[in-house]
Amino acid sequence: QAKKAGRNGFSFFEPTMSEGAAERLRLEHDLRLALQRDEFILYYQPQVDLTTGELIGVEALCRWRHPQLGLLSPTLFIPMAEQLGLIDTLGLKVLELGCRQIVDWDAAGLHVPRLAVNLSVRELERSQLPGRIAAILERTGMDPARLELEVTESKLMRHAEMAIHALNAMRALGVTLAIDDFGTGYSSLSYLKRLPLNRLKIDRSFVKGLTQDVNDDAIARAIIALARALGLEVLAEGIEAREQADFLFREGCIEGQGYLYDRPLTPEELVVNWLEPSE
Ligand code: C2E
Ligand code: MG
Ligand code: MG
Ligand code: MG
Repeated sequence: QAKKAGRNGFSFFEPTMSEGAAERLRLEHDLRLALQRDEFILYYQPQVDLTTGELIGVEALCRWRHPQLGLLSPTLFIPMAEQLGLIDTLGLKVLELGCRQIVDWDAAGLHVPRLAVNLSVRELERSQLPGRIAAILERTGMDPARLELEVTESKLMRHAEMAIHALNAMRALGVTLAIDDFGTGYSSLSYLKRLPLNRLKIDRSFVKGLTQDVNDDAIARAIIALARALGLEVLAEGIEAREQADFLFREGCIEGQGYLYDRPLTPEELVVNWLEPSE
């Protein structure tokens, strides 16, 4: 078994190549049980105003607390859940956990302006999705205007016609919509115009090289200009260095997230680092 120590402050379990197939089977089996046993938890990564450093929202990032293997990465189990047809149940669970957390924080006088939740494009294909989201908003008392749903660009564009319909139904609930990992997915500009979007999230692979790689500088500039032309907000992910943040801000991107500000945090850590008065 390999463990990759990340800058996230914790290590995810990762199956090695040789044990891959057996481990995979086991995880697939466990994944079904995990939903019943409530083994999924959310970490929250701060999203900040690059000018003031103020908290403007959090992105909910799912982890699986496996009873034997420890904390598992979403990059491992989300694709698995998609293949096994479990993503709908998992996605709704994540949404409900996140909305409850925000409402609980509100009640405690701790204000998180916006909650971003990742949606798999598989979930968008379900005609029941908007109704189920509405039910969660209702049940938890979450203000739809403070909920943003993110869908990865590459997946979205492969199902663009379907997505236009599904995303319109979601916008009708009062939530906002973002394209995640923007720049990696060959968006058709005509679809970009037709999708009911609010925000582009610049993929961290372009943020990484900012001020070091002229191509990344050019790509980031182009995405910011595209967002402006389409009347969309823009947020940069994966900001790790001050120079990257300064570059983005100079070019007109005023929202970001990344290790420079904070890693994904447990709810308790988020409260301590971001929500409690520091005096
Ligand atoms: P994402 O939505 O693009 O989330 C951002 C990922 O970048 C997160 O990885 C986060 O921990 C990582 N990250 C944040 N800041 C930095 C940074 O400064 N540097 C670097 N190198 N990485 C940074 P994570 O938590 O492992 O999540 C991976 C992906 O799994 C997410 O990418 C998202 O696509 C998916 N995912 C996570 N939770 C859910 C979920 O509840 N539902 C669905 N459908 N997908 C999810
Ligand atoms: Mg995301
Ligand atoms: Mg992303
Ligand atoms: Mg990503």
